[in-house]
Amino acid sequence: MTDIYLYNTKTRTKGQQFTPIDDKNVRMYVCGPTVYDRAHLGNARPVIVFDVLNRLLRHVYGDKHVTYVRNFTDVDDKINARAAESGRSIGDITDETIQWFLDDMGAVGAIEPDHMPRATAYIAPMVAMIEDLIAKGHAYAAEGHVLFSVSSYAEYGALSGRSVDDMIAGARVEVAPYKRDPMDFVLWKPSDADTPGWDSPWGRGRPGWHIECSAMAHDLLGAQFDIHGGGNDLTFPHHENEIAQSKCAGHDFANVWLHNEMLQVEGKKMSKSLGNFFTVRDLLDQGVSGEVIRLVMLSTHYRKPMDWTETKRKEAEKTLSDWMSVLQKHGYSAKTVEILKAAGDWAADAELMGVLGNDLNTPGALARLHVLSKGRTAEALAPFAHGLETLGLVSDWSAAEASASDGDDLEDWIAPVIDRLLVERSTARADKNWGEADRLRDLLNAAGVQVTDIAGEASWAQGPDFDPSVLEALK
Ligand code: AMP
Ligand code: ZN
Repeated sequence: MTDIYLYNTKTRTKGQQFTPIDDKNVRMYVCGPTVYDRAHLGNARPVIVFDVLNRLLRHVYGDKHVTYVRNFTDVDDKINARAAESGRSIGDITDETIQWFLDDMGAVGAIEPDHMPRATAYIAPMVAMIEDLIAKGHAYAAEGHVLFSVSSYAEYGALSGRSVDDMIAGARVEVAPYKRDPMDFVLWKPSDADTPGWDSPWGRGRPGWHIECSAMAHDLLGAQFDIHGGGNDLTFPHHENEIAQSKCAGHDFANVWLHNEMLQVEGKKMSKSLGNFFTVRDLLDQGVSGEVIRLVMLSTHYRKPMDWTETKRKEAEKTLSDWMSVLQKHGYSAKTVEILKAAGDWAADAELMGVLGNDLNTPGALARLHVLSKGRTAEALAPFAHGLETLGLVSDWSAAEASASDGDDLEDWIAPVIDRLLVERSTARADKNWGEADRLRDLLNAAGVQVTDIAGEASWAQGPDFDPSVLEALK
């Protein structure tokens, strides 16, 4: 069994081995996107990082024993502004953006979380939680707003390691008249006629940003769960505020907090004014494959700033193409993988999983894949192929197969002839008729057919010198 060690932002250590509250239901919540525009390349980083963690947890605890939740923030002033400027409805914009997000993240190999709640579907639990916070003296209503009283929670600032006094000194926030303390943050705010709103005990309004994650995590994962993640720009204030709300509502909330560092482009912060801002879709449209994007992302550890560069993109393209050639040379296809699985030869490489379990050391895991890719037979390459799948670098083995035959439309007669020769060869072998078996092998060699024997079953692929005309006489 792979041991998992995760660097916990809360304790600032990687010390203790990760032990889930319930190993039959390991629970993880990750803050998702605010949906008003295409995901930029930086947004893909947390998605890929936590997808790797999701895959690792499923590997260790079993596919059915992990619950992964990632929300969609579909109520936000940026969405309202987009609706106002485009003349489109908020629902249209959020529906479209959510579908874009799922398509683009699917393209970079991210498995969809088990739950993808939309904030607007959880207004009632948010209102209930806010009422509870008011009743417990941690929040107050003022002028149609409800504010969380930061001074009512002594541990405020513990996650990000900031003291409230420093925060006040550093804050440039405008101190609204309805706030008792400048640090207090909004749980609920009033909506005018042009802004989406819901009825509440404080009048028609909408939630502040932070409360949605506290309410949705509680509803879907319970009062205490294992892992909470997001980009490190969310540590303060978003996650600090989530913790304050949830703890004051009496929930234990998340045990382990994980934060990915930010992504830059060619050494600079991605920004529209620098002209280095692009979306995942821009890259896909330029012909950069999702696997290449993913491989570049995995080549930097998630707690280090990551730099997207053209050089890295090219290197990743070469690596992936080399790896695919290795597999194709050994006849890998959906069928091969199926046979390996059936024969019990589809196993993880313990060293690779160990490296990954060490705080998601993806660069280390890639280095291990390079070693494993040197396997000399299809069976010896199984841990390599398994590793590629675990890291999400190959999702569909038939894709490897299709490119192995280069997408050529073979004439109808060819595949049946080759299949027949393989059957005859295996019969000859079973009869210990070595002369005949060798003759058939030589014939297939002459036609440039690559034969792979795995777990007693033969499969074939077109080699570089594929020339089926040699077999024409056997039509
Ligand atoms: P947002 O929609 O801005 O709330 O961002 C969605 C997710 O993307 C959050 O987890 C952010 O931390 C993350 N994120 C935003 N920009 C970057 C970036 N440049 N690099 C890495 N992660 C980012
Ligand atoms: Zn959140």
